[in-house]
Amino acid sequence: MSERTDNDSTPLLEVRDLTVHHGQLRALDRVSLRVFPGEVYAIIGANGAGKSTLLRTIAGLHQPTDGAILYDGKNMTRVRPERRAIAGIVMVPEGRRLFGSLTVEENLQVGATYARKGPWTIERVYELFGWMRDRRTQRTAQLSGGEQQSVAIGRALVANPRVLLLDELSLGLAPVVVQRIYAMLPQILATGLTVLLVEQDVSQALRVASHIQCLLEGHTTLEGRPSDVTAAQVEAAYFGLAGAAAGSPGEESEALWHGSTPSSRAS
Ligand code: ATP
Repeated sequence: MSERTDNDSTPLLEVRDLTVHHGQLRALDRVSLRVFPGEVYAIIGANGAGKSTLLRTIAGLHQPTDGAILYDGKNMTRVRPERRAIAGIVMVPEGRRLFGSLTVEENLQVGATYARKGPWTIERVYELFGWMRDRRTQRTAQLSGGEQQSVAIGRALVANPRVLLLDELSLGLAPVVVQRIYAMLPQILATGLTVLLVEQDVSQALRVASHIQCLLEGHTTLEGRPSDVTAAQVEAAYFGLAGAAAGSPGEESEALWHGSTPSSRAS
């Protein structure tokens, strides 16, 4: 994955002072970010921090109350979601959202409906996920969670995105399955994609990201390269606890570094 430098000229995706409301609730408050070509940019944060709202707003599924979304130098803030997909902003939504009664291949065909020209075809997805070709006629409702997540990724890839938005790939999956899915990332990046992902599993995010940004209650609380931030800083930003920054890991921070989060423990 490419290293970002401050001298990089134009970000592929830029979010400027984005504010989004759900009714009276201010889910995002003047959040900004810049994602450069070829990088893996991870948004981390606890349940309800605004991560999905950010990704969905970039995909065009929520309208911001203020701020701007620029893609490849163009203002996309009021562009319809399907036009954004055609332009190359494609999301793998939280919870997969496959058509369960359709087969694996039919789901992939749906993803290819508005496909841009590019390296990704259904055949190429079958090469990436070795098991998939033999089970292409199976309904996706019959697949395991990890298999469904792979189909959801494949469905996004066949659209040939330039920016792939990944919303909580790890949700509801066993750690070993999550690692297997994330292990595919280098092969995906090698085809020239840029990835913006949302992840509650901080360890996982730090492993794969070239840049991280932490949200807490709709605000940015930390931003930087994983190598430039300390564990205590991440914990403080994630939980909003001044004590964590002082470096006294308690029950919460232990959970954080083992991939479990307060929300997942509560459910
Ligand atoms: P999670 O991991 O739970 O998905 P998140 O960081 O992705 O958390 P969001 O889903 O963006 O957070 O939610 C941010 C806040 O906005 C939360 O308080 C949530 O309850 C609220 N929210 C999200 N979507 C809606 C919606 N469609 N209508 C009303 N409130 C919403």
